[in-house]
Amino acid sequence: LNSMLSGLPTTIFTVMSALAARHDAINLGQGFPDTEGPADLIEAAAAALRDGRNQYPPLTGVPELRTAVARSNARFYGLSVDPATEVIVTSGATEALAASLMAMVDPGDEVVVLEPLYDTYLPVIRALGAVARPVRLTPPDWSLPRAELAAAFGPRTKAIMLNSPMNPTGKVFGPDELAFIADLVARHQVYAICDEVYEHLTFGGARHIPLMTLPGMRPRCVRIGSAGKSFSLTGWKVGYVTAPAAIAATVAKAHQLLTFTTPPNLQRAVAVGLDKDTDYFTTLAADMQAKRDLLSDGLRAAGFDVLPCDGSYFIVADIRSTGFAGDDVAFCRALTERCRVTAIPVSAFYGTDNAPDHLVRFAFCKKDPILAEAVARIRAGV
Ligand code: PMP
Ligand code: GLN
Repeated sequence: LNSMLSGLPTTIFTVMSALAARHDAINLGQGFPDTEGPADLIEAAAAALRDGRNQYPPLTGVPELRTAVARSNARFYGLSVDPATEVIVTSGATEALAASLMAMVDPGDEVVVLEPLYDTYLPVIRALGAVARPVRLTPPDWSLPRAELAAAFGPRTKAIMLNSPMNPTGKVFGPDELAFIADLVARHQVYAICDEVYEHLTFGGARHIPLMTLPGMRPRCVRIGSAGKSFSLTGWKVGYVTAPAAIAATVAKAHQLLTFTTPPNLQRAVAVGLDKDTDYFTTLAADMQAKRDLLSDGLRAAGFDVLPCDGSYFIVADIRSTGFAGDDVAFCRALTERCRVTAIPVSAFYGTDNAPDHLVRFAFCKKDPILAEAVARIRAGV
């Protein structure tokens, strides 16, 4: 058996969701909305199923979705994208990330990553025989240690992975940070794999800026989106890659090996979603911002220090202020068992030793009464 994979633990999201189910807990661990996505998308998928859209679609995605991805890039970011050569539809952003890494790295290449990071990044880098160069953001504001980041780039660097808005931190990278990263990418002539699945979920004055829109970055960036997050349909697993044709062609080769195609009926429905009016996207973010506020106010009232959050589905809380004697893993277990609320230990988002062990992540993409009940349970039990 492959030693890396056989030694890999089951993902923390599955572990904590199982624990939540066992204790009949409110699951603020795994990030998925507890409401259905837009009715018109579900109807479009059902219609496509009935219309006989059930055989293999084109390898790179149905034309309706590829053109919708191109239009969305133009509408929100002013990017000009050729739907025929610069868009690849994948089975979720998860596949898009793996396919992009497969397309870029050879064994021995280095990939710069920012910790805390999404849990698929490191295992896929390692499975490809590449080497991850992690750089840690500094809590509580998750600032970018610029000198360390610059030092992580070297002659073997092939790419950097950048997740903004970021899971689990809720950080949205600002123009100065992006310019600093872009300068490193250009100077070292490497690629950037930009995980932008939460692109439409930013709060307050924060605004998502794709690295791809910065000067010189268009030929070097792969931009990844997900219907799961943009349309609250996480089980559909429809992702989309926007990349210059030379990179997209190789991402398509990886997609050909991994899944070959993605369900055509769901793709057609996602195309309807991407063409929704701008109000839909603004409302999605405003609703999620109200949920962030509800949960963060509640957690503060329960005695947590809550870290800043400008985007995504998640907030991070510091457990030290609650007086709990134990680490984040013990805390999440105890919270599930005693309060019947489940969260995720932030140490699970680190691949290296000495991760911070005083932070936990809560998902707020849940109905308001569920968030209120979770807060009530925590206040009663902590
Ligand atoms: N990247 C990040 C940062 C995520 O939080 C997720 C969440 N699922 C994914 C990628 C994967 O997205 P998908 O469900 O479309 O595969
Ligand atoms: N992205 C979601 C999260 O971070 C869940 C992903 C998963 O279950 N693999 O919670």
